[in-house]
Amino acid sequence: MYQKEYMKVAIEEARKGFLNGDGGPFGAVVVKDGAIIASGHNQVLKNNDSTCHGEIDAIRKAEQKLGTYDLSGCQIYTTGEPCPMCLAAILWANIDKVYYGCTLVDNEMIGFRDEKLEEMMGERENLPEWFLEERDRELCLELFNEYKNKVDKVTY
Ligand SMILES: [Zn+2]
Repeated sequence: MYQKEYMKVAIEEARKGFLNGDGGPFGAVVVKDGAIIASGHNQVLKNNDSTCHGEIDAIRKAEQKLGTYDLSGCQIYTTGEPCPMCLAAILWANIDKVYYGCTLVDNEMIGFRDEKLEEMMGERENLPEWFLEERDRELCLELFNEYKNKVDKVTY
């Protein structure tokens, strides 16, 4: 069952990450049996790693911690709807359910190519409808706006 407190942890991870210059405002938390196993955030810039999205970071940490590549029985909370890469990783990890805040369109609005990639690769409509569930979008949009305001002020 969805718990807002886990989404808040994901938001805090994301906030910490982008304020630190690690990457975009994307945080994720893996939960099992009502407890947080691991949290992660986007570190594409920090690590020069295009695959280090929040979901991937959280999945890697959760698998290390549990000593398995099989996250059956786990749910993932993420501030932005997973891109095709993360969605595939979530499926490979056997995660039961995804709760996301902002949508792919929201991700695109703050400068990421989620919609474009989804057009090229996405077939998420083939997934069962219950698998991906949008929750607390408004809370996550506040985070996205903070990020956007920060990025707009930076001159490269
Ligand atoms: Zn991703």
